[in-house]
Amino acid sequence: MSISQLARSIVDSPTLRLNEEARLLRERGLPVIHLGIGEPKNKAPINAILSAANKLNSGDVKYTPTDGTPALKKAIIKYTEDNYNRIVAPENVIVTNGAKQSLFNVIYSLVDPQDEVIILAPYWVSYPEMVKMVYGVPIIVTPKDGTFYPRMEDILEAVSSYTKAIIVNNPNNPSGMVFPPEFIGELVEFCESKGIYLIMDDIYHRLVFDGTKAVPGYQFTDNDIESTKVIVINGVSKIYGMTGFRIGWVIMNRRMVEVMTNVQAQMTSCPATILQSAAEGALNGLQSYVESLRLTIENNRNVIMQELRSFNGIRVPEPQGTFYCLPDFRAYQENSVELADFLLKKALVVAVPGIEFGIEGHLRLSFSGTVKDITEGIARMKWAIDPESPREIYIGDRKMIRDWL
Ligand code: PLP
Repeated sequence: MSISQLARSIVDSPTLRLNEEARLLRERGLPVIHLGIGEPKNKAPINAILSAANKLNSGDVKYTPTDGTPALKKAIIKYTEDNYNRIVAPENVIVTNGAKQSLFNVIYSLVDPQDEVIILAPYWVSYPEMVKMVYGVPIIVTPKDGTFYPRMEDILEAVSSYTKAIIVNNPNNPSGMVFPPEFIGELVEFCESKGIYLIMDDIYHRLVFDGTKAVPGYQFTDNDIESTKVIVINGVSKIYGMTGFRIGWVIMNRRMVEVMTNVQAQMTSCPATILQSAAEGALNGLQSYVESLRLTIENNRNVIMQELRSFNGIRVPEPQGTFYCLPDFRAYQENSVELADFLLKKALVVAVPGIEFGIEGHLRLSFSGTVKDITEGIARMKWAIDPESPREIYIGDRKMIRDWL
């Protein structure tokens, strides 16, 4: 079989792989708890459903403009004005199949072979792979002091004449950290002065807790949309819990939007028509929906923190956003892949190994599910690895006795 070198170099998505493993185990009737998944349990907003249903009922479901329908773009422009305090033109917006395609499209359109893209660890699993997919070089900057974001000095050390862009995900998947405004300010100022693009992946920006704000990069630049180096990526997947609708977008200068539109035209023609209508419905509909989702997730965050605080030896900075936390399990096991495998086998709990996000010894746990799953999942983990926890537990309706500690 002849597989290209490039295709061979791309690893699979560990989170999607774990989803599949969990699905197969559940199909066998096993009571798996999935703390790996990155999507809330909510139903899609009613305005999204009605808007999609109207479009479908019309029977008029054809190609749309490659860069998105004028109506959805209008809704995105209003969203940008309301949430970023920036007025942008339709020519500054391209709608894509999920924020994932937004990111890929930006990277594809910016990065030449050998160009470097700086990625801050812990990072979302797809960033390095996407950079490699265009023959670019991902440069990972890891925090040196055990925190979840590198210091500006460390980032500056990683910059070279090949640096094309820096990717920042705020709030951060997988740590749940919100970057301090001063840090974002410094990054924006640096990037603008050096002509380096700052790709801000804002996909979780309204899922923040305790009154924290994930400040937009735009706040720190007076440059207009045509000249700023700040690129905004966003979408409906996380904030509206509409992961399956696959709608995201990029806000950027006109020339780059034109280029990305050409790229997208050759790849996918346009995002699906009905799903664009759904996203339009969500953006134009009642925004209290986002707040109620946020409150549910904040409550889940409180529950998981309470459970983890009573877990002997585990260190976990409190997430200020997203629906993930990244506890340090090194007190039990340094190798996060082995630990995740062990937990799946013994306790039927899915957790994602930290090494996939560039941080070994940690596990990413999602609190986007139910409170019951969170409490039961952590109880099972304690049972599996903490010798001081009770030796007996019920997993489903089976009583299990720990005989390995
Ligand atoms: N960016 C980050 C940080 C994510 O966690 C995800 C999804 O998990 C995405 C982008 C992709 O979002 P979408 O589902 O809209 O493609």
